[in-house]
Amino acid sequence: MKPHDGMYIDGEWRPAAGQETIAVLNPADEQVIGHVPAGTPEDVDLAVRAARAAFPAWAATAPAERAARLAALRDVLVTRKDEIAETVTAELGSPPQFSQLVHAGVPALVAGSYAELAATYAFEEKVGNSTVFSEPVGVVGAITPWNYPLHQIVAKVAPALAAGCTVVLKPAEDTPLTAQLFAEATQEAGLPAGVFNLVTGIGTVAGQALAGHDGVDLVSFTGSTAVGRQIGAVAGAAVKRVALELGGKSANVILPSADLAKAVNVGVANVMGNSGQTCSAWTRMLVHRDQYDEAVTLAAAAVAKYVPGERVGPLVNAKQQARVRGYIEKGVDEGARLVAGGPEAPLARGYFVSPTVFADVTPEMTIAQEEIFGPVLSILRYEDEDDALRIANGTVYGLAGAVWAGDEAEAVAFARRMDTGQVDINGGRFNPRAPFGGYKQSGVGRELGSHGLAEYLQTKSLQF
Ligand code: NAD
Repeated sequence: MKPHDGMYIDGEWRPAAGQETIAVLNPADEQVIGHVPAGTPEDVDLAVRAARAAFPAWAATAPAERAARLAALRDVLVTRKDEIAETVTAELGSPPQFSQLVHAGVPALVAGSYAELAATYAFEEKVGNSTVFSEPVGVVGAITPWNYPLHQIVAKVAPALAAGCTVVLKPAEDTPLTAQLFAEATQEAGLPAGVFNLVTGIGTVAGQALAGHDGVDLVSFTGSTAVGRQIGAVAGAAVKRVALELGGKSANVILPSADLAKAVNVGVANVMGNSGQTCSAWTRMLVHRDQYDEAVTLAAAAVAKYVPGERVGPLVNAKQQARVRGYIEKGVDEGARLVAGGPEAPLARGYFVSPTVFADVTPEMTIAQEEIFGPVLSILRYEDEDDALRIANGTVYGLAGAVWAGDEAEAVAFARRMDTGQVDINGGRFNPRAPFGGYKQSGVGRELGSHGLAEYLQTKSLQF
Protein backbone atom coordinates (compact mmCIF):
# COMPACT_ATOMS: atom_id res chain seq x y z
CA MET A 1 0.00 0.00 0.00
CA LYS A 2 0.99 3.62 -0.49
CA PRO A 3 1.98 5.23 2.84
CA HIS A 4 -0.06 8.17 4.14
CA ASP A 5 1.89 11.28 5.09
CA GLY A 6 -0.56 12.31 7.82
CA MET A 7 -2.31 11.05 10.95
CA TYR A 8 -5.76 9.49 10.95
CA ILE A 9 -7.68 11.70 13.37
CA ASP A 10 -11.40 12.33 13.70
CA GLY A 11 -12.27 10.29 10.61
CA GLU A 12 -9.77 11.85 8.19
CA TRP A 13 -6.09 11.94 7.26
CA ARG A 14 -4.67 15.18 8.66
CA PRO A 15 -1.23 16.74 8.22
CA ALA A 16 1.14 15.91 11.07
CA ALA A 17 2.06 18.71 13.47
CA GLY A 18 5.82 18.23 12.94
CA GLN A 19 8.15 17.69 9.99
CA GLU A 20 10.01 14.58 11.17
CA THR A 21 9.40 11.25 9.49
CA ILE A 22 10.22 7.62 10.15
CA ALA A 23 11.75 5.52 7.35
CA VAL A 24 10.17 2.09 7.00
CA LEU A 25 12.55 -0.68 5.89
CA ASN A 26 12.03 -4.08 4.37
CA PRO A 27 14.15 -6.23 6.71
CA ALA A 28 14.64 -8.91 4.06
CA ASP A 29 16.63 -6.58 1.76
CA GLU A 30 17.26 -3.50 3.95
CA GLN A 31 15.61 -1.19 1.38
CA VAL A 32 13.47 1.78 2.41
CA ILE A 33 9.87 1.15 1.35
CA GLY A 34 8.28 4.35 2.59
CA HIS A 35 8.07 7.07 5.20
CA VAL A 36 5.44 7.91 7.79
CA PRO A 37 5.19 10.98 10.00
CA ALA A 38 6.81 10.90 13.43
CA GLY A 39 4.05 12.09 15.74
CA THR A 40 4.55 14.74 18.40
CA PRO A 41 2.70 15.35 21.66
CA GLU A 42 0.60 17.83 19.67
CA ASP A 43 -0.63 15.09 17.31
CA VAL A 44 -1.36 12.86 20.28
CA ASP A 45 -3.30 15.64 21.99
CA LEU A 46 -5.43 16.25 18.89
CA ALA A 47 -6.15 12.52 18.57
CA VAL A 48 -7.09 12.17 22.25
CA ARG A 49 -9.43 15.17 21.99
CA ALA A 50 -11.11 13.59 18.96
CA ALA A 51 -11.50 10.30 20.83
CA ARG A 52 -12.93 12.12 23.88
CA ALA A 53 -15.40 14.04 21.76
CA ALA A 54 -16.56 10.84 20.04
CA PHE A 55 -16.85 8.85 23.27
CA PRO A 56 -20.33 9.79 24.61
CA ALA A 57 -22.14 8.98 21.37
CA TRP A 58 -20.21 5.75 20.74
CA ALA A 59 -20.66 4.62 24.36
CA ALA A 60 -24.40 5.18 23.99
CA THR A 61 -24.83 3.12 20.79
CA ALA A 62 -26.73 -0.13 21.14
CA PRO A 63 -24.42 -3.17 21.36
CA ALA A 64 -26.06 -4.47 18.17
CA GLU A 65 -24.85 -1.39 16.28
CA ARG A 66 -21.30 -1.81 17.60
CA ALA A 67 -21.51 -5.48 16.59
CA ALA A 68 -22.56 -4.46 13.07
CA ARG A 69 -19.57 -2.09 12.72
CA LEU A 70 -17.19 -4.82 13.96
CA ALA A 71 -18.69 -7.31 11.52
CA ALA A 72 -18.13 -4.75 8.75
CA LEU A 73 -14.55 -4.29 9.94
CA ARG A 74 -14.00 -8.06 9.84
CA ASP A 75 -15.40 -8.11 6.29
CA VAL A 76 -12.98 -5.37 5.16
CA LEU A 77 -10.06 -7.29 6.72
CA VAL A 78 -11.16 -10.41 4.83
CA THR A 79 -11.60 -8.53 1.54
CA ARG A 80 -8.19 -6.86 1.87
CA LYS A 81 -6.31 -9.92 3.17
CA ASP A 82 -3.87 -10.05 0.25
CA GLU A 83 -2.91 -6.42 0.71
CA ILE A 84 -2.55 -6.95 4.46
CA ALA A 85 -0.30 -9.98 3.92
CA GLU A 86 1.83 -8.11 1.37
CA THR A 87 2.21 -5.12 3.69
CA VAL A 88 3.24 -7.28 6.66
CA THR A 89 5.71 -9.15 4.46
CA ALA A 90 7.15 -5.86 3.22
CA GLU A 91 7.72 -4.27 6.63
CA LEU A 92 8.21 -7.29 8.92
CA GLY A 93 9.82 -9.68 6.42
CA SER A 94 7.46 -12.54 7.22
CA PRO A 95 7.30 -15.28 4.51
CA PRO A 96 4.20 -14.72 2.30
CA GLN A 97 2.40 -17.90 3.33
CA PHE A 98 2.76 -17.14 7.04
CA SER A 99 1.59 -13.58 6.39
CA GLN A 100 -1.56 -14.86 4.67
CA LEU A 101 -2.39 -17.53 7.20
CA VAL A 102 -1.45 -15.83 10.45
CA HIS A 103 -0.83 -12.10 10.04
CA ALA A 104 -3.91 -11.54 7.84
CA GLY A 105 -6.02 -14.52 8.91
CA VAL A 106 -5.99 -14.28 12.71
CA PRO A 107 -7.03 -10.58 12.98
CA ALA A 108 -10.12 -11.25 10.85
CA LEU A 109 -11.03 -14.13 13.21
CA VAL A 110 -10.53 -11.93 16.27
CA ALA A 111 -12.55 -9.04 14.81
CA GLY A 112 -15.31 -11.54 13.99
CA SER A 113 -15.25 -12.95 17.52
CA TYR A 114 -15.82 -9.45 18.93
CA ALA A 115 -18.64 -8.77 16.48
CA GLU A 116 -20.35 -11.82 18.00
CA LEU A 117 -19.44 -10.95 21.57
CA ALA A 118 -20.70 -7.36 21.26
CA ALA A 119 -24.06 -8.77 20.16
CA THR A 120 -24.33 -11.41 22.88
CA TYR A 121 -22.43 -10.14 25.96
CA ALA A 122 -24.49 -9.47 29.08
CA PHE A 123 -23.78 -5.73 29.54
CA GLU A 124 -26.48 -5.73 32.22
CA GLU A 125 -27.14 -8.31 34.95
CA LYS A 126 -29.26 -8.72 38.05
CA VAL A 127 -27.49 -9.41 41.34
CA GLY A 128 -30.08 -9.74 44.14
CA ASN A 129 -31.68 -6.34 44.53
CA SER A 130 -29.16 -4.69 42.19
CA THR A 131 -28.85 -4.17 38.47
CA VAL A 132 -25.21 -4.14 37.43
CA PHE A 133 -24.28 -2.33 34.22
CA SER A 134 -20.99 -2.92 32.44
CA GLU A 135 -20.00 0.45 31.00
CA PRO A 136 -17.06 1.39 28.77
CA VAL A 137 -13.98 2.71 30.59
CA GLY A 138 -13.56 5.67 28.21
CA VAL A 139 -10.70 6.67 25.92
CA VAL A 140 -8.13 3.94 25.34
CA GLY A 141 -4.47 4.61 24.51
CA ALA A 142 -3.23 1.51 22.68
CA ILE A 143 0.52 0.99 22.19
CA THR A 144 1.49 -2.00 20.09
CA PRO A 145 4.66 -3.86 19.00
CA TRP A 146 5.80 -5.02 15.56
CA ASN A 147 5.90 -8.78 15.97
CA TYR A 148 2.28 -9.45 14.94
CA PRO A 149 1.52 -5.96 13.61
CA LEU A 150 -2.18 -6.34 12.84
CA HIS A 151 -3.06 -8.96 15.45
CA GLN A 152 -1.69 -6.80 18.26
CA ILE A 153 -3.79 -3.87 17.04
CA VAL A 154 -7.01 -5.84 16.58
CA ALA A 155 -6.59 -7.64 19.92
CA LYS A 156 -6.88 -4.20 21.58
CA VAL A 157 -9.07 -2.15 19.26
CA ALA A 158 -11.82 -4.74 18.62
CA PRO A 159 -12.67 -5.37 22.30
CA ALA A 160 -12.34 -1.64 23.08
CA LEU A 161 -14.87 -0.81 20.34
CA ALA A 162 -17.14 -3.68 21.39
CA ALA A 163 -17.15 -2.27 24.93
CA GLY A 164 -18.07 1.23 23.70
CA CYS A 165 -14.63 2.80 24.22
CA THR A 166 -12.91 5.06 21.70
CA VAL A 167 -9.25 4.57 20.81
CA VAL A 168 -5.99 6.30 19.98
CA LEU A 169 -3.41 3.87 18.59
CA LYS A 170 0.37 4.36 18.57
CA PRO A 171 1.79 1.43 16.59
CA ALA A 172 5.42 0.25 16.53
CA GLU A 173 7.95 2.30 14.57
CA ASP A 174 8.93 -0.68 12.42
CA THR A 175 5.44 -1.60 11.20
CA PRO A 176 3.36 1.58 10.77
CA LEU A 177 2.10 0.73 7.26
CA THR A 178 -0.05 -2.14 8.52
CA ALA A 179 -1.48 0.28 11.09
CA GLN A 180 -2.31 2.81 8.36
CA LEU A 181 -4.02 0.06 6.41
CA PHE A 182 -6.06 -0.79 9.52
CA ALA A 183 -7.09 2.87 9.86
CA GLU A 184 -8.35 2.76 6.26
CA ALA A 185 -10.29 -0.39 7.15
CA THR A 186 -12.03 1.32 10.10
CA GLN A 187 -13.07 4.14 7.78
CA GLU A 188 -14.37 1.68 5.17
CA ALA A 189 -16.26 -0.20 7.88
CA GLY A 190 -18.19 2.98 8.67
CA LEU A 191 -16.93 3.68 12.18
CA PRO A 192 -18.02 7.17 13.22
CA ALA A 193 -15.34 9.89 13.12
CA GLY A 194 -13.11 10.00 16.20
CA VAL A 195 -13.95 6.48 17.41
CA PHE A 196 -10.61 5.20 16.11
CA ASN A 197 -7.55 7.45 15.69
CA LEU A 198 -3.98 6.70 14.64
CA VAL A 199 -0.78 8.54 15.52
CA THR A 200 2.43 7.04 14.13
CA GLY A 201 5.66 7.94 15.89
CA ILE A 202 8.46 6.81 18.11
CA GLY A 203 7.88 5.27 21.51
CA THR A 204 9.74 7.75 23.67
CA VAL A 205 7.88 10.70 22.08
CA ALA A 206 4.43 9.78 20.77
CA GLY A 207 4.08 6.62 22.91
CA GLN A 208 5.09 8.40 26.08
CA ALA A 209 2.79 11.35 25.34
CA LEU A 210 -0.13 8.97 24.85
CA ALA A 211 0.54 6.89 27.98
CA GLY A 212 0.80 10.05 30.09
CA HIS A 213 -2.09 12.01 28.56
CA ASP A 214 -4.76 13.16 31.04
CA GLY A 215 -7.52 12.46 28.52
CA VAL A 216 -6.69 8.75 28.32
CA ASP A 217 -8.59 6.54 30.77
CA LEU A 218 -6.94 3.20 30.04
CA VAL A 219 -3.55 2.35 28.59
CA SER A 220 -3.19 -1.00 26.88
CA PHE A 221 0.40 -1.87 26.06
CA THR A 222 2.13 -4.85 24.46
CA GLY A 223 5.91 -4.96 24.22
CA SER A 224 9.00 -5.26 26.35
CA THR A 225 8.92 -5.65 30.11
CA ALA A 226 11.20 -2.62 30.52
CA VAL A 227 8.78 -0.24 28.77
CA GLY A 228 5.76 -1.98 30.33
CA ARG A 229 7.14 -1.27 33.78
CA GLN A 230 7.47 2.46 32.94
CA ILE A 231 3.97 2.64 31.51
CA GLY A 232 2.56 0.83 34.55
CA ALA A 233 4.26 3.36 36.84
CA VAL A 234 2.90 6.35 34.88
CA ALA A 235 -0.60 4.86 34.82
CA GLY A 236 -0.43 4.00 38.52
CA ALA A 237 0.56 7.54 39.46
CA ALA A 238 -2.44 8.88 37.53
CA VAL A 239 -4.78 6.14 38.91
CA LYS A 240 -5.50 5.02 35.36
CA ARG A 241 -6.45 1.54 34.22
CA VAL A 242 -3.61 -0.33 32.55
CA ALA A 243 -3.22 -3.63 30.71
CA LEU A 244 0.27 -4.96 30.01
CA GLU A 245 1.16 -7.84 27.70
CA LEU A 246 4.88 -8.35 28.20
CA GLY A 247 7.55 -10.91 27.53
CA GLY A 248 7.68 -14.66 27.94
CA LYS A 249 10.06 -17.59 28.29
CA SER A 250 7.62 -20.42 27.97
CA ALA A 251 8.32 -24.09 28.64
CA ASN A 252 7.44 -26.98 26.36
CA VAL A 253 7.31 -29.89 28.80
CA ILE A 254 7.58 -33.31 27.21
CA LEU A 255 6.62 -35.99 29.75
CA PRO A 256 8.08 -39.49 29.26
CA SER A 257 4.78 -40.99 28.06
CA ALA A 258 4.41 -38.44 25.21
CA ASP A 259 4.78 -38.98 21.48
CA LEU A 260 8.34 -37.63 21.50
CA ALA A 261 8.77 -37.07 17.76
CA LYS A 262 5.50 -35.14 17.47
CA ALA A 263 6.22 -33.07 20.57
CA VAL A 264 9.69 -32.13 19.33
CA ASN A 265 8.55 -31.33 15.77
CA VAL A 266 5.65 -29.14 16.87
CA GLY A 267 7.89 -27.55 19.49
CA VAL A 268 10.53 -26.62 16.90
CA ALA A 269 7.85 -25.22 14.55
CA ASN A 270 6.43 -23.15 17.41
CA VAL A 271 9.80 -21.49 18.08
CA MET A 272 10.82 -20.95 14.44
CA GLY A 273 7.48 -19.46 13.32
CA ASN A 274 7.63 -15.67 12.79
CA SER A 275 11.44 -15.98 13.10
CA GLY A 276 11.02 -16.58 16.82
CA GLN A 277 9.47 -13.15 17.37
CA THR A 278 6.54 -14.49 19.37
CA CYS A 279 6.14 -13.59 23.03
CA SER A 280 4.34 -16.88 23.77
CA ALA A 281 6.90 -19.11 21.96
CA TRP A 282 7.97 -22.27 23.83
CA THR A 283 11.64 -21.38 23.77
CA ARG A 284 12.61 -23.88 26.47
CA MET A 285 12.07 -27.55 25.63
CA LEU A 286 12.14 -29.76 28.75
CA VAL A 287 12.94 -33.43 28.14
CA HIS A 288 13.41 -36.37 30.56
CA ARG A 289 17.05 -37.45 30.84
CA ASP A 290 16.32 -40.94 29.37
CA GLN A 291 14.93 -39.38 26.17
CA TYR A 292 17.23 -36.40 26.02
CA ASP A 293 19.70 -37.51 23.34
CA GLU A 294 16.92 -38.72 21.06
CA ALA A 295 15.06 -35.40 21.46
CA VAL A 296 18.20 -33.42 20.58
CA THR A 297 18.72 -35.52 17.42
CA LEU A 298 15.07 -35.04 16.44
CA ALA A 299 15.23 -31.27 17.04
CA ALA A 300 18.42 -30.89 14.97
CA ALA A 301 16.73 -32.76 12.09
CA ALA A 302 13.51 -30.74 12.41
CA VAL A 303 15.25 -27.36 12.39
CA ALA A 304 17.11 -28.18 9.15
CA LYS A 305 13.81 -27.62 7.30
CA TYR A 306 13.76 -23.97 8.39
CA VAL A 307 15.85 -22.39 5.69
CA PRO A 308 16.52 -18.64 6.12
CA GLY A 309 15.07 -16.64 3.25
CA GLU A 310 12.56 -19.40 2.49
CA ARG A 311 10.63 -20.82 5.44
CA VAL A 312 12.17 -18.40 7.96
CA GLY A 313 12.14 -14.65 7.44
CA PRO A 314 14.58 -12.07 8.81
CA LEU A 315 14.28 -10.38 12.18
CA VAL A 316 12.52 -7.05 12.12
CA ASN A 317 15.59 -4.77 12.23
CA ALA A 318 19.35 -4.63 12.64
CA LYS A 319 19.08 -4.00 16.38
CA GLN A 320 17.03 -7.14 16.98
CA GLN A 321 19.41 -9.14 14.75
CA ALA A 322 22.41 -7.96 16.78
CA ARG A 323 20.59 -8.63 20.04
CA VAL A 324 19.70 -12.21 19.11
CA ARG A 325 23.17 -12.97 17.77
CA GLY A 326 24.52 -11.63 21.06
CA TYR A 327 22.36 -14.11 22.97
CA ILE A 328 23.64 -16.99 20.82
CA GLU A 329 27.22 -15.97 21.60
CA LYS A 330 26.33 -15.79 25.27
CA GLY A 331 24.87 -19.30 25.12
CA VAL A 332 28.15 -20.62 23.70
CA ASP A 333 30.19 -18.68 26.28
CA GLU A 334 28.14 -20.07 29.16
CA GLY A 335 28.76 -23.64 28.00
CA ALA A 336 25.63 -24.66 26.10
CA ARG A 337 26.20 -27.00 23.12
CA LEU A 338 25.25 -25.75 19.66
CA VAL A 339 23.54 -28.49 17.66
CA ALA A 340 22.21 -26.26 14.87
CA GLY A 341 22.77 -22.68 13.74
CA GLY A 342 25.09 -20.27 15.49
CA PRO A 343 25.83 -16.55 15.70
CA GLU A 344 26.97 -16.04 12.07
CA ALA A 345 24.40 -14.34 9.83
CA PRO A 346 23.26 -16.92 7.25
CA LEU A 347 22.74 -14.43 4.40
CA ALA A 348 24.77 -11.43 3.30
CA ARG A 349 21.77 -9.15 3.05
CA GLY A 350 18.78 -8.76 5.34
CA TYR A 351 18.52 -9.12 9.10
CA PHE A 352 18.55 -12.93 9.13
CA VAL A 353 19.64 -15.13 12.02
CA SER A 354 20.36 -18.84 11.66
CA PRO A 355 17.70 -21.07 13.22
CA THR A 356 19.58 -22.22 16.29
CA VAL A 357 19.22 -25.14 18.71
CA PHE A 358 21.18 -25.41 21.94
CA ALA A 359 21.53 -28.63 23.94
CA ASP A 360 22.96 -29.06 27.47
CA VAL A 361 21.25 -25.87 28.56
CA THR A 362 20.92 -25.55 32.32
CA PRO A 363 18.14 -23.57 33.99
CA GLU A 364 20.29 -20.72 35.28
CA MET A 365 21.93 -19.89 31.93
CA THR A 366 21.06 -16.52 30.39
CA ILE A 367 19.54 -18.21 27.32
CA ALA A 368 17.22 -20.17 29.63
CA GLN A 369 16.15 -17.11 31.60
CA GLU A 370 15.86 -14.10 29.25
CA GLU A 371 13.52 -13.50 26.35
CA ILE A 372 15.63 -13.78 23.18
CA PHE A 373 12.92 -13.01 20.60
CA GLY A 374 14.59 -14.87 17.78
CA PRO A 375 14.74 -18.36 16.24
CA VAL A 376 16.61 -19.91 19.16
CA LEU A 377 15.55 -23.07 21.02
CA SER A 378 17.09 -24.29 24.27
CA ILE A 379 16.73 -27.96 25.24
CA LEU A 380 16.94 -28.67 28.97
CA ARG A 381 17.18 -32.03 30.77
CA TYR A 382 15.01 -32.92 33.77
CA GLU A 383 15.24 -35.80 36.26
CA ASP A 384 11.60 -36.28 37.27
CA GLU A 385 8.27 -34.44 37.17
CA ASP A 386 8.99 -32.25 40.18
CA ASP A 387 12.28 -31.23 38.62
CA ALA A 388 10.49 -30.44 35.35
CA LEU A 389 7.96 -28.28 37.19
CA ARG A 390 10.67 -26.44 39.09
CA ILE A 391 12.48 -25.66 35.82
CA ALA A 392 9.26 -24.74 33.97
CA ASN A 393 8.27 -22.29 36.74
CA GLY A 394 11.82 -21.05 37.31
CA THR A 395 11.77 -17.75 35.39
CA VAL A 396 10.26 -14.33 36.06
CA TYR A 397 7.81 -14.94 33.18
CA GLY A 398 4.59 -16.92 32.88
CA LEU A 399 2.88 -16.26 29.57
CA ALA A 400 2.32 -19.61 27.86
CA GLY A 401 3.59 -23.18 27.61
CA ALA A 402 2.88 -26.69 26.43
CA VAL A 403 2.62 -30.12 28.00
CA TRP A 404 2.78 -33.42 26.13
CA ALA A 405 1.84 -36.80 27.64
CA GLY A 406 0.40 -40.13 26.51
CA ASP A 407 -2.66 -39.46 28.60
CA GLU A 408 -4.47 -36.11 28.45
CA ALA A 409 -5.33 -36.20 32.17
CA GLU A 410 -1.64 -36.59 33.03
CA ALA A 411 -0.79 -33.52 30.92
CA VAL A 412 -3.63 -31.51 32.46
CA ALA A 413 -2.49 -32.39 36.00
CA PHE A 414 0.98 -31.05 35.17
CA ALA A 415 -0.38 -27.94 33.41
CA ARG A 416 -2.46 -27.03 36.47
CA ARG A 417 0.77 -26.74 38.48
CA MET A 418 2.42 -24.37 36.00
CA ASP A 419 2.60 -20.65 36.81
CA THR A 420 1.49 -19.48 33.40
CA GLY A 421 -1.51 -18.01 31.61
CA GLN A 422 -1.96 -20.45 28.68
CA VAL A 423 -0.95 -24.06 28.15
CA ASP A 424 -1.44 -26.14 25.00
CA ILE A 425 -2.15 -29.77 25.80
CA ASN A 426 -0.69 -32.27 23.29
CA GLY A 427 -0.56 -29.60 20.60
CA GLY A 428 -3.98 -28.03 21.26
CA ARG A 429 -5.13 -25.59 18.57
CA PHE A 430 -5.07 -21.78 18.87
CA ASN A 431 -8.40 -20.50 20.17
CA PRO A 432 -9.11 -16.82 19.39
CA ARG A 433 -11.63 -16.67 22.26
CA ALA A 434 -9.37 -18.11 24.99
CA PRO A 435 -7.99 -15.47 27.38
CA PHE A 436 -4.35 -14.66 26.67
CA GLY A 437 -2.07 -12.98 29.18
CA GLY A 438 0.59 -13.46 31.74
CA TYR A 439 1.27 -14.65 35.25
CA LYS A 440 4.17 -12.97 37.09
CA GLN A 441 6.18 -10.45 35.02
CA SER A 442 4.51 -11.46 31.75
CA GLY A 443 1.89 -8.86 32.39
CA VAL A 444 -1.32 -7.61 33.87
CA GLY A 445 -4.72 -8.27 32.32
CA ARG A 446 -6.00 -10.51 29.55
CA GLU A 447 -6.68 -10.16 25.84
CA LEU A 448 -9.11 -12.03 23.55
CA GLY A 449 -12.59 -13.38 24.15
CA SER A 450 -14.92 -12.19 26.88
CA HIS A 451 -12.02 -11.77 29.35
CA GLY A 452 -10.41 -9.38 26.87
CA LEU A 453 -13.67 -7.46 26.55
CA ALA A 454 -13.99 -7.15 30.34
CA GLU A 455 -10.68 -5.22 30.43
CA TYR A 456 -12.44 -2.30 28.70
CA LEU A 457 -15.51 -2.29 30.96
CA GLN A 458 -16.24 -0.93 34.41
CA THR A 459 -19.27 -1.79 36.52
CA LYS A 460 -21.99 0.41 37.96
CA SER A 461 -24.52 -1.12 40.32
CA LEU A 462 -27.95 0.33 41.02
CA GLN A 463 -29.79 -0.92 44.14
CA PHE A 464 -33.55 -1.27 44.24
P1 NAD B 1 9.26 -1.86 23.00
O1 NAD B 1 8.63 -2.27 24.28
O2 NAD B 1 10.33 -0.82 23.05
O3 NAD B 1 8.15 -1.31 21.98
C1 NAD B 1 6.78 -1.66 22.00
C2 NAD B 1 5.93 -0.43 21.74
O4 NAD B 1 6.10 0.52 22.79
C3 NAD B 1 6.27 0.33 20.44
O5 NAD B 1 5.09 0.87 19.88
C4 NAD B 1 7.15 1.44 20.95
O6 NAD B 1 7.16 2.56 20.10
C5 NAD B 1 6.49 1.79 22.27
N1 NAD B 1 7.35 2.45 23.25
C6 NAD B 1 8.69 2.33 23.40
N2 NAD B 1 9.12 3.11 24.43
C7 NAD B 1 8.02 3.71 24.94
C8 NAD B 1 7.81 4.62 26.03
N3 NAD B 1 8.82 5.04 26.80
N4 NAD B 1 6.55 5.03 26.27
C9 NAD B 1 5.52 4.59 25.53
N5 NAD B 1 5.65 3.75 24.49
C10 NAD B 1 6.89 3.30 24.21
O7 NAD B 1 9.80 -3.15 22.30
P2 NAD B 1 10.93 -3.27 21.16
O8 NAD B 1 12.11 -2.40 21.43
O9 NAD B 1 10.25 -3.08 19.88
O10 NAD B 1 11.39 -4.78 21.38
C11 NAD B 1 12.33 -5.06 22.40
C12 NAD B 1 12.02 -6.39 23.06
O11 NAD B 1 10.69 -6.39 23.58
C13 NAD B 1 12.03 -7.60 22.15
O12 NAD B 1 13.30 -8.09 21.93
C14 NAD B 1 11.18 -8.56 22.92
O13 NAD B 1 11.93 -9.19 23.92
C15 NAD B 1 10.14 -7.68 23.56
N6 NAD B 1 8.88 -7.66 22.78
C16 NAD B 1 7.83 -8.31 23.28
C17 NAD B 1 6.64 -8.32 22.57
C18 NAD B 1 5.44 -9.02 23.07
O14 NAD B 1 4.55 -9.32 22.28
N7 NAD B 1 5.32 -9.25 24.36
C19 NAD B 1 6.55 -7.68 21.34
C20 NAD B 1 7.65 -6.98 20.86
C21 NAD B 1 8.80 -6.98 21.60
